[in-house]
Amino acid sequence: MIRKSIRTSTRKEAIEITSMVEEEIKGIKNGIAIIYVPHTTAGVIINEAFDPAVAEDILNELSRLIPYSDKYKHLEGNADAHIQATLTGSSVMIPIESGRLLLGRWQGVFFMEFDGPRNREFYIKVIKE
Ligand code: ZN
Repeated sequence: MIRKSIRTSTRKEAIEITSMVEEEIKGIKNGIAIIYVPHTTAGVIINEAFDPAVAEDILNELSRLIPYSDKYKHLEGNADAHIQATLTGSSVMIPIESGRLLLGRWQGVFFMEFDGPRNREFYIKVIKE
């Protein structure tokens, strides 16, 4: 299990971490990489990495759907972030084939910050076939 640290710089942010994952699968021919985020107000997704506007649109629409203020019972002031993290999920799994992540041409892996800026972490678990 590999632990990675990341520093986010705004409250809502999508940080591409594909190269950090690729770094950790070097020497693995076939298997599975699991990327896991151990936070309640951050998540991880796979989506388009070619046009940065896509990640921006995802963040903007999540903020529109789940606004900062609503009739939330959680009084810490970050209920929106908890719900957004629930929608994105805490882990993704990517097959490793012939030494590379089996991502589609336009796909990348993003750490999704919903209540930054903070020091964050995520884990990469590689299971060899
Ligand atoms: Zn909270």
